[in-house]
Amino acid sequence: MVSKPVAPNDSAPDLVDFGIFQLSSLAINDDLRQDLKQLVASKPYPLLIIGEEGAGKHTLAKCLAASYLCHSVESDGSACGTCPSCRMISASGAHLDLVILDPGPSGRIKVDEVRSEVAARLFEAPRISHNKVFIISAEKADTLSEACQNALLKPLEEHPAFVRFIIFCEDSDRLLPTIRSRVQTLRPAHRNNKEIRQILDEAGIEDSPAKNFALDCSDGLPGVALTLAQDERYRQIYDESLRIFKAFPRENRTAFLTGGLDFFKANKDSTDMIIRLLQSFLRELSLGLLADKWEGLPAESAAFTDKELAEWAKLEIDYEALLGLLSETKRALSSNTGYDHTISRLLLQMRSKIAAGGTASDPRTRQ
Ligand SMILES: [Zn+2]
Repeated sequence: MVSKPVAPNDSAPDLVDFGIFQLSSLAINDDLRQDLKQLVASKPYPLLIIGEEGAGKHTLAKCLAASYLCHSVESDGSACGTCPSCRMISASGAHLDLVILDPGPSGRIKVDEVRSEVAARLFEAPRISHNKVFIISAEKADTLSEACQNALLKPLEEHPAFVRFIIFCEDSDRLLPTIRSRVQTLRPAHRNNKEIRQILDEAGIEDSPAKNFALDCSDGLPGVALTLAQDERYRQIYDESLRIFKAFPRENRTAFLTGGLDFFKANKDSTDMIIRLLQSFLRELSLGLLADKWEGLPAESAAFTDKELAEWAKLEIDYEALLGLLSETKRALSSNTGYDHTISRLLLQMRSKIAAGGTASDPRTRQ
């Protein structure tokens, strides 16, 4: 296990795609760019990157790692792209002085891995770079258990000057206070529309309805935008989500719950997209109702006809509450709450909030 380079297959795909690994290539605002530049130049204090799913934590971690390993960093903190370290990383995503600890399919890092890959290798001198980088994922609630975190305390506290730690997580409250007190934190801000467009363009994504959806509904999160824009099932999921959404006021409770839950389960990988679609339908309705007409909205993006809009206008719907419910569901899912339970609860609550408007009078059975 000594100095084993990280084989690409051992890690999550987005951790090893070093094709773009220069800080200068990131579509980010000037504040974040400045922070990153300082991080590269500063003394080796362990870094914790905090951001929700899709915030670009992996990309930042790998760009920073490349900078730390680079033999001649540029003035803006970017890796040079041509030195032996940069060439090694760009060839395979692996580097002899880079250790990536990520949970793999099990979703959990083992405490033995922390001991063998981090604690035991901490004092080994770097092989080709002047630094040695450890990237550690604490992404989800149970990715990095308390025992793992405890095993990390000493390495974080006492390590050679050539060691750089990059830890990332969605929610720092899940980390032990003793870990949090040993790290400096970086919270990448949400990207603006222009930056998201640049990220999608650079990924070679052609204009499409999915790309427009990603631009409108990714909340400035690059990873989310990339996933949405490249989901080949976008059209199919859009159509089915819209059909289910339109059935909220009229389908009978049982048929609705069963059909809705089946749909979510069959498309579990695209749950985030479905929830974002439901949010976009709600926003579109509330905007349309405010404006009285669809004028001003591009026809291609209108999910509802004038007639449907008039029907929805009769329901007294609290759109803010529904949007809040969807956000709450996303948070619940990211903290590993039971999937079926969370989705059932969402469907029932949405239906009751929508049907409360008064027209649950047209129960019909699903085909
Ligand atoms: Zn370099």
